[in-house]
Amino acid sequence: MVIGGGIAGIQAALDLADKGIIVHVVEKTPSIGGRMAQLDKTFPTNDCSICILAPKMADCFSHPNTNVITYAEVVGVEGKAGAFKVKVLKKSRYVDESKCTGCGECLEKCPVKVPSEFEMGLGVRKAIYMPMMQSVPRVMTIDKEHCLMTLKGKCGNCKKACKREAIDYEMKDQVLEVEVGAIIVATGYDVWDPTTSTEYGYGRYPNVFTAMEYERMINAAGPTHGHIERRSDKKRPQKMAFIQCVGSRNPQVGHPYCCAVCCMHSTKEAMLAREHHDDMESSVFYKDMRACAKGFWEYVERAKRDYAVRYVNSDATVQENPENHNPIVVYDVGGRQQSEEFDMVVLASTLIPRKDTIELAKILGLKLDQFGFLESTDRILENGRTVVPGVYLAGYCGGPADIPESVAQGSSAAAKAVETLVQAGV
Ligand SMILES: Cc1cc2nc3c(=O)[nH]c(=O)nc-3n(C[C@H](O)[C@H](O)[C@H](O)COP(=O)(O)OP(=O)(O)OC[C@H]3O[C@@H](n4cnc5c(N)ncnc54)[C@H](O)[C@@H]3O)c2cc1C
Repeated sequence: MVIGGGIAGIQAALDLADKGIIVHVVEKTPSIGGRMAQLDKTFPTNDCSICILAPKMADCFSHPNTNVITYAEVVGVEGKAGAFKVKVLKKSRYVDESKCTGCGECLEKCPVKVPSEFEMGLGVRKAIYMPMMQSVPRVMTIDKEHCLMTLKGKCGNCKKACKREAIDYEMKDQVLEVEVGAIIVATGYDVWDPTTSTEYGYGRYPNVFTAMEYERMINAAGPTHGHIERRSDKKRPQKMAFIQCVGSRNPQVGHPYCCAVCCMHSTKEAMLAREHHDDMESSVFYKDMRACAKGFWEYVERAKRDYAVRYVNSDATVQENPENHNPIVVYDVGGRQQSEEFDMVVLASTLIPRKDTIELAKILGLKLDQFGFLESTDRILENGRTVVPGVYLAGYCGGPADIPESVAQGSSAAAKAVETLVQAGV
């Protein structure tokens, strides 16, 4: 079983399935894909993220050896390596997965609009929805917290619109019992909410965005169709600041570790701003540049040379010019405080252990490290192996990892799982 259908989990599942092993993939949200599906491009190649991910999502879902269980979570585990019994709670979508084709006719008729989680609240979705255009499986879900029919017994528009009779308001949650030989946990991360840290003005100053919001904004399929827009007046910015290490390497907010991706994703985002508009001026405020993996340093050099990205080595905080809602970045150069007005600020909010990691660790008997990530028995020599034989980790749930590392860890966890299956004679 693979728990979590992000890039790490997808890679693990595909490696196992290709070896002829049956894999159950349990994904909490209505679609597999994870965070990579939300990104516009990926460093260090600036490949279109969903373009390289979508074929893997489709392969993972349609592989003859996989059983992808979405909108589901693990609620109990018994047994041992080679013979685990896993209880999976499959939440009701109120939509019959075998009938829905994702045609979208129900969407048009649904009167309820709520902020879209996938679009980081910059766009809206309906109470019946698919998280994204490329959702896998391509099936609608009714959000019972907002659906007028499940809440008040009124409406029924989606049911009337559905020619395939896929809507079922009486559908119940199900508990499935699955027997597996090994378990791979690949549940990823949460993005830290910078509202709590007043020095960046996020939530107070309209033209301060998080990097994940910006990723959605610059995406052609995103809420602004790829247009970079200020919240205050919908104008496009011409001068942008990207602030790194927001909430990371900062023991005062409880996240003392480096999130391992913000040097590179801020660089990418600054480059992309210039790709969108030739006259864009981007500045990156950084503590120190951690561009250590293959091609990363060259990537930063390219940003400076070909995209005129300016790098400023300083901590930074944000104030606002109340007359035009321009964010003002306050920073320090050679011990002298400077302040500079920008049209928009993008915060590289740190990435943190998911809130539900503690619960999942209890269910599986796993340990957490000092930051709250799932712990490997030895981060150097036994990365991905846990205190529970037969249970392995892959991707960001085990600590900071970019996409290439998450993919490598997915493959590594799959190889370890095979070892368990062979030893147990499964
Ligand atoms: C703004 C930003 C930009 C980035 N840009 C890049 C980039 O350009 N290049 C790059 O290499 N990296 C980038 N990253 C990092 C990248 O997002 C991660 O490296 C990658 O997503 C990690 O993959 P994952 O599969 O471990 O986790 P995730 O992508 O978080 O996937 C985890 C999956 O598990 C599911 N899940 C969670 N809990 C449960 C549960 N209990 N049961 C079942 N399912 C569960 C989730 O719903 C999700 O689908 C960026 C990150 C941010 C924030």
